[in-house]
This record gives sequence, structure tokens and C-alpha cells, in this order.
Amino acid sequence: MIIGIPGEEKLTEQAKEDFLIIDYLKQIKLEIKKAKKFPPFASLHEGYAVLKEEVEEFWDEVKNFKYNESHEESESLKNIEKELIQIAAMAVKNLQLVDKMKAKIQEANK
Ligand SMILES: [Mg+2]
Repeated sequence: MIIGIPGEEKLTEQAKEDFLIIDYLKQIKLEIKKAKKFPPFASLHEGYAVLKEEVEEFWDEVKNFKYNESHEESESLKNIEKELIQIAAMAVKNLQLVDKMKAKIQEANK
């Protein structure tokens, strides 16, 4: 696991993992921000469809992956990371819809 920070070799495995997770969360947050050019999901059906599209794009990258150590594979892994971040961002966008729906139900049952 390489995270590229000074003194990295002194970090515990747990600290390295925490750094990586924080980095993923930053990327997911940025992706959610980018997705704001589109309106929130109008339904769970729409949310599912968009999430599925991202999963299919991830699958396309996986199918092309050759498991060798060429430069192309390194590029391919960057695309795979990008798709996984997009999946996570669309999962969060679905969670935001679920939260709105829960609030609506709570309001209706006051
Ligand atoms: Mg994508």
C-alpha cells in the first residue's frame, strides 16, 4: 500500500489504511460535487439505474483488465478507481434520496 506522504514508513498499517480511506472520501465528495450539475434523483428507480450504469462501466474496465504489469494496466487501474469512486458517489446520492424520503414519511406521520 503506497500513499506517498513523508514519514509513511513509520505509520502503522491501520494509520495507512485510515489515510487511504480519508483520500477515498475526499474523492467521493468531489465526485458528488461534480454530479450536482444534475438534479437529485427523482425516484429510487432512477437512482438504481444510474448506479447500475456506473457498475456496468466498472465491469467493462474489469473485463479489459489483463493482470500483467504493463503501463496500460496501470492506466486501466486508474480508470477502475475512477469508476469505483463514481459508484460510491452514486450510492451516496441514493442515500440522500432515502434520507429525504424518510423525512417525508416522518413529516406525514406527525
Ligand atoms: Mg462512470
